[in-house]
Amino acid sequence: MSFKRHNYLDDAIHYYDLAQGQAPKFMVIACADSRVCPSKILGFQPGEAFTVRNIANLVPPFQHGSSETSAALEFAVNSLEVPNILVVGHSRCGGIRALMSMKRDDSSRSLISDWVSIAKSARLSTEAAAGNLSFEKQCRHCEKDRLMGHC
Ligand SMILES: [Zn+2]
Repeated sequence: MSFKRHNYLDDAIHYYDLAQGQAPKFMVIACADSRVCPSKILGFQPGEAFTVRNIANLVPPFQHGSSETSAALEFAVNSLEVPNILVVGHSRCGGIRALMSMKRDDSSRSLISDWVSIAKSARLSTEAAAGNLSFEKQCRHCEKDRLMGHC
């Protein structure tokens, strides 16, 4: 009711246009972390960004098979023809902490460890480049390294 009263009714023509279809200029892939609000950070209004959120803002490799993120990418690129794709990472990411905390011979896998393991190349890259640093610093390194294309 608050949205309808304070947002929708103030901009009813815009929302009517959006109801007819979308043509966003951006696709955003962001972490599901509650502290990360892509539209707030990037200043997007409804209709400007097609967004998918997952733990650690990961993009699974094509060989990994289907996932919500893969399906969203396919739709954004093939159907919406978005010209820009943004990946929004952040510091102190719990997903990256889970990735960096995984034991090599971990037999007690969880859904989270299964998911973040698709970024194991980023973990290996971090261990090779920053293995001498503290665990926290390795996590910061991995958060940034993934954005440089090692995922
Ligand atoms: Zn995160």
